[in-house]
Amino acid sequence: MRQRTLTQEQIIGWNQDALKDISVTLIGTNALAQFMVCTLTGIEVGAITLIDHTYATKENEIILVPSQESRVLQLEDLVKKMNPEIVVNAFHSHPHPYMCTDSSVVIDTTSSKYTIKSQQTIFNHSCEIDFLGILAGTITNKIRRSAFRLRDYERTISGRNTVENNPIQKKTQGNILIVGAGALGNYTSLCAAAEGFNITICDDDLIEETNKNRQPLFTLDESTGKSKADICVRRLREIHPQLRFRSIKQKAAENYFDETKVVEAQYDLIISCVDNAETRKYLNQICRTNRIALIDGGTTPFDGQVTTYQPDKTACIECQAPLVDNKFEKNNTNSCISNSHEPSVVYTNCVIGCAVITEAKRILSNSSPTKGQLFYSSLDDHPLGIRKTIQRCEHT
Ligand SMILES: [Zn+2]
Repeated sequence: MRQRTLTQEQIIGWNQDALKDISVTLIGTNALAQFMVCTLTGIEVGAITLIDHTYATKENEIILVPSQESRVLQLEDLVKKMNPEIVVNAFHSHPHPYMCTDSSVVIDTTSSKYTIKSQQTIFNHSCEIDFLGILAGTITNKIRRSAFRLRDYERTISGRNTVENNPIQKKTQGNILIVGAGALGNYTSLCAAAEGFNITICDDDLIEETNKNRQPLFTLDESTGKSKADICVRRLREIHPQLRFRSIKQKAAENYFDETKVVEAQYDLIISCVDNAETRKYLNQICRTNRIALIDGGTTPFDGQVTTYQPDKTACIECQAPLVDNKFEKNNTNSCISNSHEPSVVYTNCVIGCAVITEAKRILSNSSPTKGQLFYSSLDDHPLGIRKTIQRCEHT
């Protein structure tokens, strides 16, 4: 078995041993808990204990395949397949303090009366899917930061009652193209499908073993060596059979990608989850010429950003954030099927993937997009914000 944490261990200062010492108990299996399972598995904490007594339904599942089975047992199975290094235990029951005695951190996503004294974090799950993904990525990063700084980890993370108990809002319909099915594309498409969008996924890459801890759609079957776009679509279809999914196994760059088909498909918007400036520029040009909105997500190991182009409302992506000087430029447009893996870590992709969908929902509900660039910095105590960008497009 190749080491799943290969890409994150290339990050300078990364301390995988410190994460090995962390054991997390997760109470509940709602959308927040499902995102948390993916991101905790992605960074590879030492142990995860899962506690919940509910069964999967056909609605509001992020990652589970709908069935009438115990959710907690399905999540246990998912962790084992994503990352066999993690010690995982599942209790299909109500929580009880004896289940958590060895845990460094307890995260209670249920706000239930069963919360355990002196070591609990309470987040209420009744809010929108995209926000829950952002929250899950942020909490996982807090755990990582604490692990790196301090072996004897303080047992409680603050955050009680930070999320109001809002009912889940009506889902927005939309027909979107997601370009790139790596870690960012995985979280973007999981969140987009949970929001009820019809999705086309474009990627010419094949799945590798080292993708699996960060890319939760690639774990539930023997997917290594198969098309990322195809497997994404297959898994999403199983989770959300009522939605329409399509895959394009092509490189989304000039000479590879059929622009006329993009226009004929009448996408409401295009989302870029790619890792190179060449493809970003090309998508920006297609969207500008054909007046299609483009949301561009980008991540590095410790931060990420979302920039939105909407015709008549913002400048194009290139004018807002010059792509030649973009720090996300990697000077390498080749497939990641090579021996050189770029450093990548899961929570940044979870946060940015879900923030991209927040922007998509704004556009599809006829609200104005964010003016400026949404950014996330996992090294900052106040990690989320908006950067001003140039709003005069040189191309109009
Ligand atoms: Zn422009």
